Amino acid sequence: MEKDAKTLKEELFMKKKNAYEVMTDEDKAAMEEYAKEYMWFLDNAKTEREAVKTGIEMLTKAGYAEYHLGDKIEKGGKYYLNNRGKALYAFRIGSENLENGIRISASHIDSPRIDLKPNPLYEDGGIGYFKTHYYGGIKKYQWLAMPLALHGVVVKKGGETVDICIGDKDTDPVFYISDLLPHLAKDQMARNLREAIPGEKLNIIIGSTPYDDSADGGVKLHMMQILNEKYGIVEKDFLSAELSIVPAFNAREIGFDRSLIGAYGHDDRVCSHPALRALLDTEGSVHTVLAILADKEEVGSGGNTGMQSGIFLDLIDEMSKNLGANFNVVKNNSKCLSADVNAAFDPNFPEVHDSKNACTINGGVVLTKYTGSGGKGGTNDASAEFVGFVADIFDEEEVLWQTGELGKVDQGGGGTVAIYISSKNIDVVDLGVPVLSMHAPYECISKADLYMTYKSFCAFNKH
Ligand code: MN
Ligand code: MN
Repeated sequence: MEKDAKTLKEELFMKKKNAYEVMTDEDKAAMEEYAKEYMWFLDNAKTEREAVKTGIEMLTKAGYAEYHLGDKIEKGGKYYLNNRGKALYAFRIGSENLENGIRISASHIDSPRIDLKPNPLYEDGGIGYFKTHYYGGIKKYQWLAMPLALHGVVVKKGGETVDICIGDKDTDPVFYISDLLPHLAKDQMARNLREAIPGEKLNIIIGSTPYDDSADGGVKLHMMQILNEKYGIVEKDFLSAELSIVPAFNAREIGFDRSLIGAYGHDDRVCSHPALRALLDTEGSVHTVLAILADKEEVGSGGNTGMQSGIFLDLIDEMSKNLGANFNVVKNNSKCLSADVNAAFDPNFPEVHDSKNACTINGGVVLTKYTGSGGKGGTNDASAEFVGFVADIFDEEEVLWQTGELGKVDQGGGGTVAIYISSKNIDVVDLGVPVLSMHAPYECISKADLYMTYKSFCAFNKH
C-alpha cells in the first residue's frame, strides 16, 4: 500500500463543505452587501407585476433599453422585453457569434398566494369580506390569523389601470382571515391538515362599519364607497382586476447571528434577483446573456406570460434574424440554468429527505440534476455532460455548490421550468437556493447560499 486510508479518502471521496469554511472575510462582506439589496428587492416585489417593475428599475439604471418584438437588435446592445407587465426578458448581446449560443438563466417571479375572485365583495354578519381563490401550492391553514396585504391592479372601464398596494407600511391597515378558537375547534382539529380549512373559507375581512344606519346602507356599500373614493372603482371593475392577498410582513434577518433571511416569496425571487444582478455584473462576457423572470410557474407555466409562452422562442428568433444567425443553431448551442429553489434538509422533518442527497442550509448553491415525482415523472433530468460542464465552471470560479433532490423517493416531488426550455432543444439544469418552509407565507434561506447562487450565475455567464 502506497497511501494510507486517510490520504486516499481525501483524494477519492466527495467532501461536503459548509460555506463558512470556504468564505473569506471579503466574501462575507460582499455577502452582507448582497443580502441588503436582495431584501430591498423582496420588499418591492411581492407580486410578479411588482418584480417586473423593480427589475426594470435595476435594468434602466444599468443602461438597458426597452425592447419590443420587431425592434432592431445590435451587437453589444442591452435590452429588456417587458411581457405584459408580468414577465421580463433582460438580455445583452455579446461580442461572439450568436450561433455559439445564449447563456440563459430562467427563474420565476410568481409565488403562492391568495387571489380575489372576480366577484369578491360581500358582507356577512355585519362584516365586510372578499371571496378568494388560492394560487399555487399553499398549506391553507398557514394563512389564517395573521396580517395580510392587498396588491394588484384594477383596469377600469375605458382601460385606465389603477395600482393597489396596501398593508405593507407600518401606517397601513392590514387584512385578515379569521380562524376558529381552540375552545371550539374540536371538529376542525380532528380533520387532516388538507381538509381542516376548505378553500371557500379563505375569506378576507376588509371592514365592519356600515355606510349609514338606513336599511340598505350596509358594510358592503361602505367598503365599495371607500374603494370608489380611494381608487375610483365600481364593483363591476373587480372583474377586470388582478388582486392578490400576500403576507403583510417584510423581509427580516433570522437568528442571533443574522445569517438567515425570512421573507415571503423567496421561491423564486431568491433566484430571480441573482439572475438579474449577475447579468448586470458580467458585462465583460463575450456571450449573449439572457435572464428570464417568468410568470405562472406555480400553476404550471402556462399562459402567454408563463415559460411555455411562444414569446421565448420569438425573442431568440428576433435575435437570430437581427444578427444574421441561424435560429436552430442558436438554440442548439444555448445553455440554460433553470433557476429555482430546492427543499433544504430540515432537521425538524428528516423523514422526508434522503440525507445523503438533500441540500443543506449553508451548503452553497444547489445543482439539481432532476426533479419530478414518482419515477422521475415530469423531469428534465439534465445530461451528465451538461452537469459536468456546469460543475467544472463552478469549481474553477470557487463557487460552493452541492447536489439536491426534492425529497426522498416516493415522498412527493415537483417540477420547474426546466422541461419547457429543454424541450426547445436547449441544455438545461436546475440550479438554485435551499429553502426551509418552501411555499409558506414566511420562507427561510441563508445569506451564504444566496451569495453563492449569485456567484454561480456570474460564473456561468462568463464561461
Ligand atoms: Mn419555484
Ligand atoms: Mn414553488
